Amino acid sequence: MRKFNFCAGPAALPEPVLRQAQEELLDWQGLGCSVMEVSHRSGEFTTVAEQAEQDLRDLLGIPDNYKVMFLQGGATAQFSAVPWNLFGAGSKQADYIHTGQWADKAINEARRYGEVNIVASSEDRNFSYAPAADSWEESADTAYFHYTPNETIGGVEFPYIPDVKSPLIADMSSTILSQPIPVEKFGFIYAGAQKNIGPSGIAVGIVRDDLLDRALPDIPRSLSWKIAAEAQSMDNTPPTFAWYLSGLVFKWLKAQGGVSAMAELSLKKSGLLYDFLDRSAFFSSPVSTESRSRMNVPFVLADDKLDKQFLQESEEAGLLNLKGHRSVGGMRASLYNAVSLEAVEALVAFMADFERRHG
Ligand code: PMP
Repeated sequence: MRKFNFCAGPAALPEPVLRQAQEELLDWQGLGCSVMEVSHRSGEFTTVAEQAEQDLRDLLGIPDNYKVMFLQGGATAQFSAVPWNLFGAGSKQADYIHTGQWADKAINEARRYGEVNIVASSEDRNFSYAPAADSWEESADTAYFHYTPNETIGGVEFPYIPDVKSPLIADMSSTILSQPIPVEKFGFIYAGAQKNIGPSGIAVGIVRDDLLDRALPDIPRSLSWKIAAEAQSMDNTPPTFAWYLSGLVFKWLKAQGGVSAMAELSLKKSGLLYDFLDRSAFFSSPVSTESRSRMNVPFVLADDKLDKQFLQESEEAGLLNLKGHRSVGGMRASLYNAVSLEAVEALVAFMADFERRHG
């Protein structure tokens, strides 16, 4: 029996996608073997790869002057790839907005190769908000401007897209495909797959053509966007099963009505939970109202001695993975695309009941 899964990642996948993969596992496309057992250069797999790219382009409305890459090393490899690919054309300075643990990792990696300007930070209030657009200024002579539209651990989501002159770089790991985005405003978008795209082991990169010639000369081959783009992400063997499964998720997303439908649903799901948290005298959200994430909802109990019991009872009720990140404690419900409204309704009903019994 499938349970309601609120894991932050690797996260819930759509059940129809898992069923299709199951049905096709032993004999894919009549080949008498699985998709994992054919060459990535075979006609059959090339079709999977191309179709996945086309579906992603359709879903996000990616303009023709952007390359789509299916990359390895997760979003973490891109923390390094960003400076490696962009510090080679003059400026070795970059602007970063610091909003929490993922921004911090990106910043620390960039510092190894150039100079980082922290143009804004929410550290003063424990990373519980996104710095307002009028509270910071882009630096002069910066190679790029990096931010994290959704901090997965803190549950902080930017309510705006930074308006900057230098190429805008966004780590969209925990928000991609949850709403329409104006791709043309970005220089490079990246996202680990294991939340809204597919299983772990693959990451998506979307790069504007003119940024492919700015790499540092010694860039490791496996981090080069130019090499990846020119080789259709097959300079070496790609994670074929993750790519195939991501493609099935894109088809599923299209059938659900695409990213506009996901945006509407995400507001409904997160709204239901935030409304409950705001009404409750027992549970509360630590995140500033205007920066609350639609994807990751951290919350705390009035008495943290009940945390263990909450987790035990929720698991018994079929509500999985509500434990907050080990670094911050408390609880967190991740509400990615594959988490249904029904799942959030069940969670809120459980929490209301828990409050009645223990509040
Ligand atoms: N950035 C963000 C916003 C994330 O949530 C994560 C993973 N949770 C990462 C980067 C790191 O991704 P990966 O594990 O794929 O390297």
